[in-house]
Amino acid sequence: MFTRGTFLLLLCLLAACGNRTRELDLAEGEVLTIRRAFANIHLWRVNGFAILIDAGEAEESERLITILEERGVDRLDAIIITHAHADHIGGTNALQTRFGGQVVLGAADLELNATGMTGPLCPTSGRAEGWVEEDQAARYEPATPDVLIDERTSLRDALGIDVPGFIDPAPGHTPGSLLIFTGDEDDPQNVFVGDMFRGSVTGSSVETHFYMCDLDQNLQAILRLYEDFPSMDRYLPGHFCELTRDDVREYLIEEGALTPP
Ligand SMILES: [Zn+2]
Repeated sequence: MFTRGTFLLLLCLLAACGNRTRELDLAEGEVLTIRRAFANIHLWRVNGFAILIDAGEAEESERLITILEERGVDRLDAIIITHAHADHIGGTNALQTRFGGQVVLGAADLELNATGMTGPLCPTSGRAEGWVEEDQAARYEPATPDVLIDERTSLRDALGIDVPGFIDPAPGHTPGSLLIFTGDEDDPQNVFVGDMFRGSVTGSSVETHFYMCDLDQNLQAILRLYEDFPSMDRYLPGHFCELTRDDVREYLIEEGALTPP
C-alpha cells in the first residue's frame, strides 16, 4: 500500500524541489516556498512587503512560525488563502496572531470556511481514493477574513499597499478558489494556482490534482490561464514542484486541450 508516509518519503528523496524550502526570483520580488506535510506555503516578498500565500495545516503552524522567524519575518502584510481546505487555511489564525496581516479569502468559500472542515472531495486517482475519507474530515478553526474577493481585483485595491498584480476568482476545486497573479497587470509573469493543478513529486510535469469534481471545466480553466497570459513563465502550485509554461503546454497537449505544433 502506497501510504501517505511513503509518498512523503519519496518526495524528500527524489524531488529536485522536494527540499523543505525553495527560493525563486520572480519578475517582481522573490518567493520562498516552504513545504510542510503535503502543502506549499509561499512567502512572497516584494517592495518591502511580505505576503503569505496559504497557511498550511493547523498542526504545522508552530513549525511554520519558527521557519518564518528564522527567515527574518517579523510581520506579514497579508495572508492570501487560495481556498478553504484544511491544508491551505488551517494555520491562518495562528499565523495572523503571530505576524498580523490582512486575511484574504474568496467570497464563495465563506460558507466552506464556516464549516471548519475540508468537506466533500472528488478523488481523481486510486491513490486519492485511499485518502479521501481522512481528507474530507480534516478540521480547522474557521478563519476571519478581512478581505473577500468576488471579482478580479488588483492587489493594490485588495490590500491597500503598493504590490504589483491581481487576484482572480477561479471556481472549480472549491467555489471560492483564487488565482494570485504577480507582476504587470496586463501581462503577469507568475501565478499562484492553489489546487487548480499540482506539481509532480519527482519531476517537472503538471499533474491533475488529487481531488477535482469537474475535470473538463478544470481543463478549460487551465487552458484559459495558459492562453490569456502569454508571458506567464512560472506557475506555483499548492502541492509539490513549481511549473513552467512548457510544462503546462505539455499537460494541455496530453489532455487533448491543445493540438501539438
Ligand atoms: Zn484543496
